[in-house]
Amino acid sequence: MHDILNVIMDEIRDFRTSHKNIKVVPKVKPDEIRDFLANRYDFKDSVPIEKVFNDVKYSMRKWSLHVTDPRYFGLFDPQVTLPSIIADTLTALYNPQLASWSHAPAANEIENITLNYFLKKFGMDPEKGFANFTTGGAESNLTAVLLALTDKFPEYGNKGLRSLETQPVFYISGEAHNSFNKIAHITGLGRNAVRVIGTDDNLKMDTFKLRKAIESDISSGFKPFLVAGTAGTTSAGIIDPLDRLAGICTEYELWFHVDAAWGGAAVLVPEYKKYFNGLERADSITCDAHKWLSVSMGGGMFFTRDRSDALRTFKIEADYMPDKTQETIDSYASTIQWSRRFIGLKLFMTMAVLGERAVAETIKKQVLLGEKLRRKLKSDGWIIVNKTPLPVVCFTHPRITKGDLRPADIISRIYDRQDTWISETILKSNMNVLRACITNYESTEKDILFLAAQLKELIEGEY
Ligand SMILES: *Cc1c(COP(=O)(O)O)cnc(C)c1O
Repeated sequence: MHDILNVIMDEIRDFRTSHKNIKVVPKVKPDEIRDFLANRYDFKDSVPIEKVFNDVKYSMRKWSLHVTDPRYFGLFDPQVTLPSIIADTLTALYNPQLASWSHAPAANEIENITLNYFLKKFGMDPEKGFANFTTGGAESNLTAVLLALTDKFPEYGNKGLRSLETQPVFYISGEAHNSFNKIAHITGLGRNAVRVIGTDDNLKMDTFKLRKAIESDISSGFKPFLVAGTAGTTSAGIIDPLDRLAGICTEYELWFHVDAAWGGAAVLVPEYKKYFNGLERADSITCDAHKWLSVSMGGGMFFTRDRSDALRTFKIEADYMPDKTQETIDSYASTIQWSRRFIGLKLFMTMAVLGERAVAETIKKQVLLGEKLRRKLKSDGWIIVNKTPLPVVCFTHPRITKGDLRPADIISRIYDRQDTWISETILKSNMNVLRACITNYESTEKDILFLAAQLKELIEGEY
C-alpha cells in the first residue's frame, strides 16, 4: 500500500507543475479508447493496482481536455486548489454519511460553518435561512423551482400539478442556463412552462418585456410563480438587472431566484459587490464552488432565505433513520439527496487554508486578466460583443461578420493545434461568436498573449 500511495503522490506533484508535458486539447476517436480498455479489462482476472493506475494515468493525460491547464479558456471549469484534492481524498477515506446529522456530526458542522459564511455574504440570515451543498448548479436550480412550487402552490406536494386549476409558468432570459428546460420537464411543469424573455442591447433580461409577459400570462389564465435572474450568464457573463427583477417579483408575489452559478463568487471581492445589486433580495441563490471558487467537481451550493420552505418541500419520515435532535437539521429531510457525500470539505479547506482575502485576490486577478485579453483582442482588430465586468470575452471579427469566415473555422484550427481551448457560442439566438473565459487562477499574461497570437495568426491565414 505504501508504494502505490507514494506513486500517486508523485503524480499529484508532477501533474500540478507547469511542465507536465501534455496537450491541452485531445485528438481521439471513441474506438481508440474503447479498444485500449477492452484489450486490458474484462474484470475476470485481477490486475495489480500499479498497472491499473498506470493505465488510468496514461489515458487521463492523453485523452482529456485539460481544463486545469492555464491555457484552457473555457466553460468555468477551474484549476483546482490543492486543499480540494486533499479534501476529496479524505472524504473517500473517512466516507462519512451526511444524510443525518447524528451519523456525521463533524462533517455536518464543517459544512454548516462554510455554508453560513456564504449565506451571510449573500445577505441572508443564517438563523432563518438554509443552505446545502449540491452536485452542481443544475441541482441547485432544481431545488429553487421545487421550493418555489411548494411555497406558491400548497397543494403541489400532495396532490401534484394536476390538481392545480391554472398552469404555473416561470421566467428566464434568453441568455439563462438551459438547465431550466430540463427542470421544467423533471418537475412535471412541462417545457412550455418556461417563458423565455428577450434581452436588451447588453444581453440583460428586458424588464419591460418581462412585465408584459407576466401581465399577458395572467390575463390568459396562467399562474406565474417564479423569475430566475442570472448573475453571470454562461455564454457572456451578463448580470441581469437583479434589483429591478426583485421589484417585479415583490409586486406580483413571485419567487425570485438568482442563478449565480459562476459569477456569485465575485461577491467576495468588496469592489465587485456593486455589480450584484439586488442579489440580497433573492429568495434563493445558486452558486457553484466548483466554478470560480476553484474546488473540484461537484461542489454546488444552494441558498434560501427561509428554511421552512426547504423543510416543507423535502419533509419525510423514515423509520430506519436515526432520531433527530432539536438543534440540527438532517439533510435527507431538507434536500434532494439522501445518501450524502462530504461535498463541502473541499470548500471548507480551501477557504480555511487560503483565507478570504487571498481567494478574493485570485478572483480579482482573473477579472484583470479578462480586461487585458479584451484590450489585446481589440487592438488586434477583433470586435468585442459582450459588456460585462466579469472575465468572459465574446468576440468576432470583420472577416467573420462579412461572411468570409465562420467562428467554427477558427475553432477547429485552434483545436487542431492542441495548445489552447476556447469555444464558440451563440448570443441572441443567432449571433455566432468566439468565447474565451479566464477560469484558471494560475493563468498569466503570457497565456493571454499566447492565445491572442494564435488567434491573430489564424484570422490572418488562408482559408
Ligand atoms: C454552469 C452553470 C449552471 C449549471 O451548473 P452545473 O454545476 O454545471 O450543474 C447553471 N447556471 C449557470 C449560469 C451556469 O453557468
